[in-house]
Amino acid sequence: MPKVVSRSAVSSSTDARPTASSAAALRVYYCICGEFILVIDKTIASLPRRQTDGAIIVRAQDSDAGKARVFKLNAVAGEAVLLERQRGHERQFRFHCPRCTLPIGYQSTPPPAKSGPYVYLFAGALSQVQGQVPPDAFDGENGNEEGQDSTSLIGGNVYS
Ligand SMILES: [Zn+2]
Repeated sequence: MPKVVSRSAVSSSTDARPTASSAAALRVYYCICGEFILVIDKTIASLPRRQTDGAIIVRAQDSDAGKARVFKLNAVAGEAVLLERQRGHERQFRFHCPRCTLPIGYQSTPPPAKSGPYVYLFAGALSQVQGQVPPDAFDGENGNEEGQDSTSLIGGNVYS
C-alpha cells in the first residue's frame, strides 16, 4: 500500500471506525453550495430510508421505538406542499438551505424543526465535505445503505 500523506482528510479519518465513545463523534453536513446545514451524532448514510421517496429518516423525538438522534438543523422553513401518495395525500413542510434555498428535507408537522417525530432529509442533498457534491447526488433510488463511506481507506493512516 503506497504511503499517502493526506492532510485534508484528517477530520474524517475516524468516521468509519465504530467506537465506544460515539457520542463525541459528531458529523457535519453541508449543502452543495457549501452552507453548513446539519450536525448529527451519526452518519446519515447509516440511517434508514423511506421507501416512498428514499429520504433519510432522522428520528427527532424519543418514542417506544427508539431514542431521538442528537442533531441540529440549520435550515429555513419553506412552504408546505401536498403530495399524492398511493395511500392518500401527504403534507410536507419543507426545509431549505438558508443560502441557496435548495430544498434539503422536510417534516410532516409545521415548523419549528423537530416538532414531529421525524425529520426527513433528501438523499443526495447533503455532503460531508464542504463544497463537494455528494457521491449519491445523482442516483435515484438504489437500496444500498452501507459501504458508501469513501473515507474508510484512510483507516490505516496513523503514522505521520
Ligand atoms: Zn445551499
